[in-house]
Amino acid sequence: MLDVLGSLERTHTCGELREANVGDRVVLMGWVAKKRDFGVFTFIDLRDRDGVTQVVLSSEKATEAHGKAKTIRGEFVLAVKGEVVKRDEGAKNAKLSTGAIEVKVEELLVLNDAAVPPFQLEVAGSENLAAEETRLKYRYLDLRRPQLQRNIRMRAKAVKAIREYFDDRGFIEIETPILLKSTPEGARDFVVPSRIHTGKFFALPQSPQILKQITMIAGFDRYYQIARCFRDEDLRADRQPEFTQLDMEMSFANREQVYREMEGMFNHVLKLIDITLPAEWPRMTYAEAMRRYGSDKPDLRFGMELQDLSEVLKGTDFAPFADTLAKGGEIKCVVAKGKGDYSRKHLDELQEFVKRYGAGAMAWIKIGDEITSSLLKVLGEGKITELAAAAGAEKGDAVLIVAGKKSVVAASLGALRNEIARREGLIDRSKYECLIVTEFPMFEHDDETDTYVAAHHPFTSPMDEDLEMFKTAVDDQSQHHLLGQVRAKAYDAVINGYECAGGSIRIHQKDVQALNFKALGMSPESASTQFGFFLNALEYGTPPHGGFAAGIERTCMILCGTENIRDVMAFPKTASAQDLMMDSPGVVDPLQLDELGINVVEG
Ligand code: ASP
Repeated sequence: MLDVLGSLERTHTCGELREANVGDRVVLMGWVAKKRDFGVFTFIDLRDRDGVTQVVLSSEKATEAHGKAKTIRGEFVLAVKGEVVKRDEGAKNAKLSTGAIEVKVEELLVLNDAAVPPFQLEVAGSENLAAEETRLKYRYLDLRRPQLQRNIRMRAKAVKAIREYFDDRGFIEIETPILLKSTPEGARDFVVPSRIHTGKFFALPQSPQILKQITMIAGFDRYYQIARCFRDEDLRADRQPEFTQLDMEMSFANREQVYREMEGMFNHVLKLIDITLPAEWPRMTYAEAMRRYGSDKPDLRFGMELQDLSEVLKGTDFAPFADTLAKGGEIKCVVAKGKGDYSRKHLDELQEFVKRYGAGAMAWIKIGDEITSSLLKVLGEGKITELAAAAGAEKGDAVLIVAGKKSVVAASLGALRNEIARREGLIDRSKYECLIVTEFPMFEHDDETDTYVAAHHPFTSPMDEDLEMFKTAVDDQSQHHLLGQVRAKAYDAVINGYECAGGSIRIHQKDVQALNFKALGMSPESASTQFGFFLNALEYGTPPHGGFAAGIERTCMILCGTENIRDVMAFPKTASAQDLMMDSPGVVDPLQLDELGINVVEG
């Protein structure tokens, strides 16, 4: 028989009572985290979102309550009434905020029972957690774990801090619709069929990009929104099909003004974990980041910059290197400090690692008592010594070398740099290193289709300095390749090697926007079908404007110190875009499909 709550009210949470409360009569409610039965005494750890309090039932003092306690198990829901007492010195639990006291129970109400959970909730160490699939299926149980409770509450605090920041600075929160038209962030849209307009579809926003720009045209001047975004992308462990962004836009602003808001917002939010970032973050152009770190989101918590060996190898007759240089490629390396004793097996592993990023091979030099190298026979000891010196390597170091196309060298050595730092523990986890990466390329070349695609999105403005080149490249087909050199007023905020935000100054002139659609291979007709409304809007007095969007999940991962995106979302989907708890996506009633005029073709 279960008890009823009736008019009973909680006096305290399970994380609240301290020594100062000794003697108080209290009412606590919560879940049974643990029960220990010692015959005359039964101890229960009672848990709610704020903590755990030990409550004690004795067969002498509260016979009825003690009797009831016999029947309860883990995750039963209880209310206890009793007196706060001081624990004996030896029985204090320093790990518990309430560890100095316990509650001597006089009355126990069993408010609900609970089936035996399919996994143990409280385990020591995340490595002992049950399989993630099981935990996602029973998400409501997994969410009871203190760690997830803390993360989800941290997320709420972060969102509150973001709102505070932008409200204080005169930004206006404006909601934009979820049922929208295709928005161009480069991923696939999720579409929603319209019943009233059979055969037509809404698209869920990949971001509120166009609408936030329209709020600028509409004169709101400063907009922000905590916006849910949807992207039907190929599956990746750290991606979710729906996620949340802080989205902002401001009028009459130059890049520096937007950077200040990015810095200001992150600096304000990171105060939640007592981290002080510099008021002004370092800036680095995309070109410099790629050259020095092989990455547009370099982790600056450690050095190990890429070194260019192309100059020393100029004129080499070793065919692979000579070919690379002749084709305009590069030969670069990273130096693994103190790793001159890497085994052949280890070097082979690293070679396999860089191959995943397109590198054909990885050459190496090890500087022990003598110099050894995979290139010794082909280059000779003199050249090897010269290369080691050019790399800045010293006795005891290993030099790891990749040759090839610039993009491949950057990608493979950039990844190798991170991998070695991770494996060798070179990253100081207490550090927070931020920067703003600027002047991203405007276009990326798609080798498969030999076309240029927007590197950010098609509303991003070219750099003023590159505007003429941009116009020439679009108007003169023979100069089309120049698109690859056009830089954009696009930027990213990077913290500890993670891209936390990205944005741009937008095109605010209709003819430049039309030119950009043309550069992207869109005919005037298709530009008009897709974005005619926007091109129209641009005609009616559009102020110069720009903004950015920051990933709420990414930010919360930094705040919570987790590398698992699902740890900062209450109801995440799996890496294969499924909700295991609700078992979605699922089939719908054939009647519903009929109404929508949809015929599902199997296979
Ligand atoms: N809409 C962009 C994105 O979602 C951000 C921006 O340009 O403001 O990445």
